[in-house]
Amino acid sequence: MPKRVQSPSSINLYKQCPRRYFYQYILKYPTKENIHTVRGNVVHEALEKFFDIDVASAKIGKENYTKEFSMYMKRLFDACWSNASPRFQRLGLQSESLEHYQSDSMQMLANWLNHFFADIKTELDKDILFDVAFQKLKPVALEKSYVDNDLMVRGFIDVVHQEGEDIILIDYKTSKSSELKDEYMLQLGIYAMLYEKEHGKYPKKVGLWFLKDRLITINVTPKLIKDALFEVEQIHIATDSASIGEYPKKESGLCKFSTGQCDFYDLCMKQR
Ligand code: SF4
Repeated sequence: MPKRVQSPSSINLYKQCPRRYFYQYILKYPTKENIHTVRGNVVHEALEKFFDIDVASAKIGKENYTKEFSMYMKRLFDACWSNASPRFQRLGLQSESLEHYQSDSMQMLANWLNHFFADIKTELDKDILFDVAFQKLKPVALEKSYVDNDLMVRGFIDVVHQEGEDIILIDYKTSKSSELKDEYMLQLGIYAMLYEKEHGKYPKKVGLWFLKDRLITINVTPKLIKDALFEVEQIHIATDSASIGEYPKKESGLCKFSTGQCDFYDLCMKQR
């Protein structure tokens, strides 16, 4: 079979359960949205749009930036949340539960904003103009899609930052835990590989912005790249078949959990 384009998500899904990968990526059965994906999209959208602001036109400066940016972020979040309301309605959550996620999501953005204020202050302490400080902290690219047609892998990078000559790639996470799990290391390694393929040099660092907590970055090392490359090669070998028998079930707590179940649970259990 021809190779499929893989991604950090598809590789991690295969590692969780090959059968689930088969349903989702080989048979292309649709998956359902859940509160975590929809609210994650809303938070990502607000963060992406945040940097569209023209601070000079909005008359934002040293004296009023905390108040103005806080109000601006709240307006952005409310608009993005409201745009997603048909998706939220389809989830059928109770209103208290939805309100909890709404407030929790806004708190994540407030946390991110507090760190951003600290970064702005650090720049302003160097006695530079407010506009210059803002531009220095503004990412050079947002929501950037990369594909490597040789390795047949793609990635979607939330933020590309430049600090002097150094590039730092960052992905936003709305998860509870701020632990750099193996699945995240794989994602970061793939991002670094994709960036190098497109731009001819590796980023200096890659990291995850855990929005409930803080930004964690790591240096891009030969091991990070080697491990990611190995996983990409392995997934192509493991998915070189369209036969269900080659994709064993891997039952775990992800089959059924307190707030839901695997999208393919009923189908999968019938095929025992
Ligand atoms: S129900 Fe469990 S075993 Fe079946 S596809 Fe989903 S995760 Fe895999």
